[in-house]
Amino acid sequence: ASIALSRVGLAGLAVMGQNLALNIAEKGFPISVYNRTVSKVDETIHRAHNEGTFPLTGHYTPRDFVLSIQRPRSVIILVKAGAPVDQTIASLSEYMEPGDCIIDGGNEWYQNTERRIHEVNDKGILYLGMGVSGGEEGARHGPSLMPGGSFEAYNNITDILQKVAAQVEDGPCVTYIGEGGSGNFVKMVHNGIEYGDMQLISEAYDVLKNVGGLSNAELAEIFSEWNKGELESFLIEITSDIFRVRDEHGDGDLVDKILDKTGMKGTGKWTVQQAAELSVAAPTIAASLDCRYLSGLKEERESAAEVLKEAGLKEEVGTVKSGIDKKRLIDDVRQALYASKICSYAQGMNLLRAKSNEKGWNLNLGELARIWKGGCIIRAVFLDRIKKAYQRNPHLASLVVDPEFAREMVQRQSAWRRVVGLAISAGISTPGMCASLAYFDTYRRARLPANLVQAQRDLFGAHTYERVDRPGSFHTEWTKLA
Ligand code: NAP
Repeated sequence: ASIALSRVGLAGLAVMGQNLALNIAEKGFPISVYNRTVSKVDETIHRAHNEGTFPLTGHYTPRDFVLSIQRPRSVIILVKAGAPVDQTIASLSEYMEPGDCIIDGGNEWYQNTERRIHEVNDKGILYLGMGVSGGEEGARHGPSLMPGGSFEAYNNITDILQKVAAQVEDGPCVTYIGEGGSGNFVKMVHNGIEYGDMQLISEAYDVLKNVGGLSNAELAEIFSEWNKGELESFLIEITSDIFRVRDEHGDGDLVDKILDKTGMKGTGKWTVQQAAELSVAAPTIAASLDCRYLSGLKEERESAAEVLKEAGLKEEVGTVKSGIDKKRLIDDVRQALYASKICSYAQGMNLLRAKSNEKGWNLNLGELARIWKGGCIIRAVFLDRIKKAYQRNPHLASLVVDPEFAREMVQRQSAWRRVVGLAISAGISTPGMCASLAYFDTYRRARLPANLVQAQRDLFGAHTYERVDRPGSFHTEWTKLA
């Protein structure tokens, strides 16, 4: 007797895998699931029973699991990135056949995916590295999916991916990203942009709280107000929610009880490393990463706060605060946040383009903005404007010079400068907003002081220089002329 085979398989049933498996099953695609530690298989079956009548079957050995899937097999793996992925591939591929496909949905380093594409190719197995964003909720109810690698493999599961992805008005949040490790790379940059967004929001909070003197209740109101306008996004929404949560273990609000030390898992660091590798300026994302490092030095900061008390600027803060028009500050901070965010996205998009050029991935930046409109952590109304900017001009040098964004930034620059200036006078650090503003000011200046750096390089190292008034490369014996 033949038993019905599953349409797809999923191995790795931790938070992400379990939820994505239930999502796929809920959309009506018969799915086989497997996990190295088999108790998670039972857990998943149990959840499937509780949440609906889903076509989901559990399997307890790699062999049973693989053989329960119809050919050509599509096997999604969602295990810890790195060696666990190699081990999982080794145990499953033993039972897979030419034409079958492995889809790694983890936050994997793109070069690992490129290595595996070649390794499994020897067995005729196809491979996709698929960025999955949206955390637990996204995986269960609609993530943003960034699959890159074998186009044939993508075609085999397009129908599934389109159904399980988040849905926005212009389609499901999934698209074929490109060849090789492009899907992982795009997910990595998405996370780098996410670091920037979170940092900028935390700076807005800092200025409003410590310069504007706003309470958590007021902050909750402001962020929910902002979530009705141009800043409308998942991160602004959850920020508003966070300010409303009381501490269960004592008086006051939970946010005030949380240690000011940020964790991280590496994708932000990779983004900054890649930007440096490709000579792409990404100062806002780099500032966000640096802030996470500095936040980790809690004890050092506490001692430094003692030693540098004088720089605490108590009087200045007092003076700054006394002259504050709260309403205007709130509106200025909103504008500063928006303008800073445009610069941060410009950096991320230019990093993607540089990598695309290097690797020949042919990334469609407007399409990437589209699939980030839903499901993922950086989802925002604003991404629709980015999509349209690249539709207007796919070769746009930078989002900053798209006519619409350029107009928006120019309109907001006074407010932006006021906020950054105020923060500087009050001794409140706003590294992300400052980095964005410096990026904007550097990029929009036709002439920079780089002429002096070039003169110095020529003086001490005979590195030569070019001139503004005639072609060629020149060297001067500076010390003889001085
Ligand atoms: P995770 O904690 O990263 O990994 C746990 C899973 O990996 C378990 O199924 C575990 O199996 C398996 N595993 C670990 N070592 C293994 C090995 N040597 N051989 C076979 N299996 C092994 O799980 P996760 O949080 O669900 O994340 C999965 C992937 O998605 C990661 O790459 C993560 O970065 C990415 N991601 C996570 C989120 C999120 O919000 N959590 C969001 C986006 C992307 P056992 O049960 O047998 O230990």
